[in-house]
Amino acid sequence: MPTPVSNSSPPWRAGTGFDSHAFAPGIPLRLGGVTIAHTHGLAGHSDGDVLLHAVCDAILGALALGDIGALFPPGDAQWRNADSRVFVRRAYELMREAGWSVGNLDATLILEQPRLGPCRDSIRASLADLLSTGIEAISIKAKTPEGLNWPGTAVAQVTVLLYR
Ligand code: MG
Repeated sequence: MPTPVSNSSPPWRAGTGFDSHAFAPGIPLRLGGVTIAHTHGLAGHSDGDVLLHAVCDAILGALALGDIGALFPPGDAQWRNADSRVFVRRAYELMREAGWSVGNLDATLILEQPRLGPCRDSIRASLADLLSTGIEAISIKAKTPEGLNWPGTAVAQVTVLLYR
């Protein structure tokens, strides 16, 4: 007898996340939950952590649970200047409740400054900690926005694979 074909969905799901924030002077730069020394930070209702916002959307996207704005309305005063790790922890909690784990995550940050090489592993470790993975499951790539005329903007793009 052949093994019956299961009707259940496959044991993996992929999600993507995108976010952008404008640089502003005199505020801390937060990327992936890490504070990075720079003249400018990223403006936003929360701490402006463009990478964590895209990570959050990638996880919610994989689960088809909407997006970060639906879960944490930006007009809500309680998220003003919030540490964006709160958003990722909530998305992670929803993911675990639904029985999923993070297989790997691949991110691209697009920004003119600062150079991210020196803090790449700190960001990877921070994400690995938030998502309960090994650091080898987290990839951070940095690009400069050549030809895009985005000198004052940081963009993050994230792909995540979840498995049961
Ligand atoms: Mg954002």
